[in-house]
Amino acid sequence: MTEMMKAAVFTTPGGPEVLEYVEIERPLPGRGEVLVRVRACGINGFDLLARNGRYQTGQAKPHVLGGDVVGSVAGYGPGCEERISVGDNVALHWVISCGSCEQCLRGFETTCLRYGYLGAKYPGGYAEYVVVPERNIVALHDYVDLYKAAAFPMAFGTSWHMLVTRAQLQPGETVLVQAVGSGIGVAAIQIAQLIGARVIGSAGSDWKLERAVDMGVAPGDLINYNKNGLYDEVMRITDKRGVDVVFEHIGGEGFGDAVRSVTRNGRLVTCGGTASYDVSMNIAHVFHKQVSIIGSNSATRWEFEQITDLLRQGRFHPIVDRVFPLHQAAKAHAYLDTRSGFGKVVLSVDD
Ligand SMILES: [Zn+2]
Repeated sequence: MTEMMKAAVFTTPGGPEVLEYVEIERPLPGRGEVLVRVRACGINGFDLLARNGRYQTGQAKPHVLGGDVVGSVAGYGPGCEERISVGDNVALHWVISCGSCEQCLRGFETTCLRYGYLGAKYPGGYAEYVVVPERNIVALHDYVDLYKAAAFPMAFGTSWHMLVTRAQLQPGETVLVQAVGSGIGVAAIQIAQLIGARVIGSAGSDWKLERAVDMGVAPGDLINYNKNGLYDEVMRITDKRGVDVVFEHIGGEGFGDAVRSVTRNGRLVTCGGTASYDVSMNIAHVFHKQVSIIGSNSATRWEFEQITDLLRQGRFHPIVDRVFPLHQAAKAHAYLDTRSGFGKVVLSVDD
């Protein structure tokens, strides 16, 4: 007999109201796969865009969103190593790569030719259960705050890959973190501080900048880009030098100013464009100063292991803005659409 589970799903893209709390079939773990009982699932900007129809994810309908998943191991399919005990808490690596294409063989699993994301191509964590390949689970061991853990994987993983692996941010360098109130903005501040870099932060409202001060960013190093021009402010703060690294994920109209804010031989690293993927810039601001524009996508399984260790050591402090129960997923999306929060919004998936 088929077992059922509760899930928040959508069939037709649209506003938050298209998310329905329904019963669907519980997935079964296949060969090499693990069944995870979801405890909490972070909501990402991607979820809102996919729900709106900006992404065609290829997942069968109804669509189960959710790539930031923590839960407990509920059972294994055949052919697993079973190195984590049933009942133990795990975080899920959201990049499901093939392991055999050219990019995977070169160690670049985030640019796998056939990868898919949990909650996008594959059914995600807006449900009581989810199935992933066994290699995608990482033990949380003694880390018990599952809401914070659900606010952690994609934000800190994506930011780590951007700053550490791709941009190679160094101690003593200056990094401009765009949109400090976002999940990855919060993560970028903490990672930059761990490295020993100076953080200049931007946001569109003063109260978000004040929260960045609480995280240790100097009040004089913060920019409200709705009040003053980003480039002018960066030049004023850095005494006309510019920053070594720009941490970019907004795109859109402000991108040109972000490029211009990079110092000579500096780099801009980008993982997306929440405002728009179409950007305009003056190419002279790139070649005159030998600026590198670096793309970055997700994080590797190895990086995810590294940062989860740092989380357990208390080196990272994910910020949970609000927690909604799974059956209020539509309400949670409506809240996120207002962009009034700071940090991550998390769905709790309780018994
Ligand atoms: Zn691959």
